[in-house]
Amino acid sequence: MASRFQGRLREAYNAMSERVVDLMQGERGVRQSLDNALMKAREWVMAARELTHEEADDLATTLRREVDELSQTLVAAEEEFEDWVETDLLFAEHRAVECMLLAADPTTRDLMRLKEMWAEQMAQLLHAGDVVDAGAYECVGCGELQHFEGGENALLACPICKGEVYRRLRSAVM
Ligand SMILES: [Zn+2]
Repeated sequence: MASRFQGRLREAYNAMSERVVDLMQGERGVRQSLDNALMKAREWVMAARELTHEEADDLATTLRREVDELSQTLVAAEEEFEDWVETDLLFAEHRAVECMLLAADPTTRDLMRLKEMWAEQMAQLLHAGDVVDAGAYECVGCGELQHFEGGENALLACPICKGEVYRRLRSAVM
């Protein structure tokens, strides 16, 4: 897993993940396959972060494996997808999931469903400034909670990490 990387390698890994997603989403109008994007991101991260060939290979191999593992997990446990997304997805994992969804064969019906569910999940995220009902709202960035007892409250930027993205907790009655 990515968590085995520490310090500068961890940062390089996250930067490479972002780079892969950017490339696959069609930077400058050209969409790239996962393999192409990985290859380019590997070269880019090696230069930008002054990594050795071995380090860059290690990051690229790990990212590829994570995307493959996520893909298998999702296909095998499609019905659990919604819960899984709501539990403890970190941003790095978000990016890996995005990679996987972008790489998926768009004609595969099951994966189309996953894409829809993913889009639904993302659409359910709330942002600072949104007016919300009573309940508990969790900062996606750090897990800090905001509680509201009455109706009509505006979510504030997270006091801990300044994050502005929240999700409503299911157990809203506290
Ligand atoms: Zn936060």
